[in-house]
Amino acid sequence: MPSHDDRTTRSSVEERYEVLLETGRILTSTLSAGELYAAIHEETAKALSASNFSVSLYDQGRDLERVVYRVQDGEARAVDLGFRGSDSAVIRASQGVIVADDPDRLASLTRIEGGQSACRSGIAAPMVHHGRVVGAVSACSTRPDAYSREDLALLQGIADIAAIAIDNALQFAEIERRRKEAERIEEIGRVLTSERDPNEVLGRVVQAMLDVLHVDGAAVWQRYGVEGAKGRITDSGGDIALPVGVPWDFHEDLEITVVHERRSAVIDDIRASQLIPDHLREYLEGGSGVAVPIIVDDEVVGALAAGSRKPRHFGSEETAVMQRLARQASVALENARLHETLRALSLTDPLTGLPNRRRLQLHLDQEVAAARRGRVLTVVVFDIDNFKAVNDTEGHITGDQILRAFADLLVEENRAMNLVGRYGGDEFVSVLSDTDADGAKQYIARVQNGLRRTAPLSSHQVSVSMGIAEFDTSEMRSVDDLLRAADIDMYRVKSQRRAKQGAGS
Ligand code: GH3
Ligand code: MG
Repeated sequence: MPSHDDRTTRSSVEERYEVLLETGRILTSTLSAGELYAAIHEETAKALSASNFSVSLYDQGRDLERVVYRVQDGEARAVDLGFRGSDSAVIRASQGVIVADDPDRLASLTRIEGGQSACRSGIAAPMVHHGRVVGAVSACSTRPDAYSREDLALLQGIADIAAIAIDNALQFAEIERRRKEAERIEEIGRVLTSERDPNEVLGRVVQAMLDVLHVDGAAVWQRYGVEGAKGRITDSGGDIALPVGVPWDFHEDLEITVVHERRSAVIDDIRASQLIPDHLREYLEGGSGVAVPIIVDDEVVGALAAGSRKPRHFGSEETAVMQRLARQASVALENARLHETLRALSLTDPLTGLPNRRRLQLHLDQEVAAARRGRVLTVVVFDIDNFKAVNDTEGHITGDQILRAFADLLVEENRAMNLVGRYGGDEFVSVLSDTDADGAKQYIARVQNGLRRTAPLSSHQVSVSMGIAEFDTSEMRSVDDLLRAADIDMYRVKSQRRAKQGAGS
């Protein structure tokens, strides 16, 4: 198989111009970094002899040169090898070099280790973008003196185009990463906002922090009340998991930032920070952390906290992600609270489907107002006898079935105009409009009859005490007066029954 070294170096200006044009065309239309490195190699190999080849990226801030792509003995590989950038003459001086027959210089120049023994000469050009060195492209040859100044000019041309293309590709990758992250956060938001249980919301947020941020620990801090910044950890996860329930009263500085100014607080170096209380040192030994406020109904109710074993892990980007998650947690918590409020405002009893106490109250308010103007109104109060014993001996599920069956019976025997509701527990109330106490007694008789013929009420020998009260304009003023009278009547019946049972036993 012929090696790349067998190719003769192109020399005509026209040919070189063509190579550069083609390189520009290919590189600017490639957006994946991996494909880009392969394309840089391919174009370089067309123009120069290149048995081995490498592309490295340079991070000026950290003085880190990373070899990201390497072709060695005809085999191309994506790699990630770090070197101190200032050790490289090409990067340090931002200038291309040619090495002829000097294997030691060659190794540091081309960043090609092992297998390079065959290489005897090399060439390298810095990739420069906006005046900054962003990496280097290197090639070597088995021939002792394979490269000319023209070759270097050509490689520099390729490196210049490559610098722009790599910058594009990295920016594109960054945009992709952020897009995916945004999608993931949005998805988390959807899951969160459909969650009704506030505790469940917070548990999911901890999981989301661990999923989206590359952190070693995540936690929810909840504040007691609205004064000061006393609180405790209510959820946590990850390798550094603070114990759930552990108290954490925020240090004054943390309180000012997170609770009063409602901003995120970053601790770059936990070991050196005064903000961590002593009793948490056991878990938060070092690294870095961040806390962002959770605001519900315009109050800071807690904070999301994340920790990393690495110092200075939380830059503006990580913090921004935390803030997005905190906002979503806030919305989810507001939703969950709203749901709770709506449930409290609901007018239907979920077990029996009957109007609940609230709805009964609203209905009775209107009916009593009409009764005070002269309309006849009677209420019947029902209380199941010894219902606790049914629960105790048969279990709550049977208890629930009996409640439902009794509710159905009441509805069945009730006229459409009237309202029957569950007052609470095993107590029900029927509101009979335009009906006097005699009419109510007929209704009661029908219900008693139903108890004996309806399963599972009949099979469990369910008995119910019932009290009647007719609204009396001379004695009663309010709904309470009416219900109290019915209750008294019901207890009278119940105690008679008990006395009978007592006498019978
Ligand atoms: P009494 O004869 O004096 O009425 O006694 P009781 O055993 O029926 O006791 P009481 O009326 O004071 O208590 C009602 C019981 O109903 C208490 C509670 O455990 C039970 N209960 C309340 N709500 C429900 C429910 O939704 N499902 C079930 N299975 N039981 C309920
Ligand atoms: Mg009862």
